[in-house]
Amino acid sequence: MKKTLFILAFLAFYTTFSQEVFNSTIKLMGSRFDISVVANSKTEGDAFIATAIEEITRIEKLISSWDENSQTSLINSQAGVKPVKVDLELFQLIERALKISKLTSGAFDISYASMDKIWKFDGSMTSMPSSEAIKKSVEKVNYQNIILNPKEQTVFLKQKGMKIGFGAIGKGYAADKAKRLLQSKGVQAGIINASGDLNAWGKQPNDTDWMVAIVNPLNKEKVFSWLPVNNSAVVTSGNYEKYVRFNGELYSHIIDPRTGYPSKGILSVSIFTTSAELADALATSVFVMGKEVGLDFINQLKDVECIIVDGNNQIITSNNIELKQNTND
Ligand code: ADP
Ligand code: MG
Repeated sequence: MKKTLFILAFLAFYTTFSQEVFNSTIKLMGSRFDISVVANSKTEGDAFIATAIEEITRIEKLISSWDENSQTSLINSQAGVKPVKVDLELFQLIERALKISKLTSGAFDISYASMDKIWKFDGSMTSMPSSEAIKKSVEKVNYQNIILNPKEQTVFLKQKGMKIGFGAIGKGYAADKAKRLLQSKGVQAGIINASGDLNAWGKQPNDTDWMVAIVNPLNKEKVFSWLPVNNSAVVTSGNYEKYVRFNGELYSHIIDPRTGYPSKGILSVSIFTTSAELADALATSVFVMGKEVGLDFINQLKDVECIIVDGNNQIITSNNIELKQNTND
C-alpha cells in the first residue's frame, strides 16, 4: 500500500553532544515506520531500535486481519457463530475502540472492515454507485453488534459476515506501545513515526523540542508550518492521491460507516494529543464528520487539538492551536 507522509519528523544531528539520534526505516504493519532514538552509541541505538521493531511486530501479530492466525482473524471467522477468547491487550483495545465509536456516534467503527468495496479511488470510477448498492455495502457494519464479555474476556461479532479491522487505530497504538517500552528501558528521547502517525518523547540532543512539519497535502514539498512536539502524539490522516470528484464535489477514501458514502470536503486532518492511538482514531473520525462537525467535536475535547486542510486547501485549526504560517513558502 502506498503511504503518503504528511508529517515529516525533523531530525537534527549535533555531533558536539555525546548523545546522538539513531534512525531506522522499516516496513511493518504494511506501512513505513521511522524509528528514531537518542543514544550514547550506535550499538546502544541499534539495540533500542531492535526492541521497538520487536514490539511493533508483536502487536501486528495480534491485530492483523490479513494474518489468518491472528486473534483478530479468529474473531472474524467466528462472526455469527461464537464468542472468541482473546488476550487482555486485544480485549482492551477493542473496548477503547468501542468507546470512541460511542463518542463519535459511530463515525469511527472498527467493524467498517465488513464494508463492500464499491468505491474506487484510483481514478477508474466515472459515476457514483447506485444508492441501493451504497446502502447495502454497509449492511453488516455496526459497532453495537460487537459484543464484549469482560468476565470471559471474549469478543463476539453478532452477525455472520461481520469483520473488525484496526486500520484506523493500529498504527497509533503500535507507536504508543513502542514508545512506552523504550521509555521503560531508559531511552530518554525518540520518535516512533508510523507513516505520519507519530509519538515523540524527550528532546533532541541539543535540548530543543522535536519539530514536525505540517505540509500542504497538495504539494508535499511545501511546509505550512513547523510545530514543536513535547512528549505527545501527532497523527495525520488523509491522502490527496486517494479521492474522486463527482459533480465538482471532492470525496475522500475514508467512508462514513453509517451511510456508505465517502467523506467530503477534507484533504487532511492532523490531531495533537498525548496518545497516538486516540489521535489516530480521532483523525479518521473528523474526516468522516466533515470540517464543521469535526472541528466542533475536537473543540469540546480536553487536551486535543486539530488542524484540518479542507478541499480548497484552506487551513482550519481548533481553538487552542497557534499556527505560524511558513513565510518561506
Ligand atoms: P491513513 O490511510 O492515513 O492511515 P487513517 O488512519 O484514517 O488513514 O486510516 C484509514 C483506514 O482506516 C482505512 O484504510 C480503513 O482501513 C480504516 N477505516 C476507514 N474508515 C473507517 C472508519 N469510519 N472507522 C474505523 N476505521 C476506518
Ligand atoms: Mg486514523
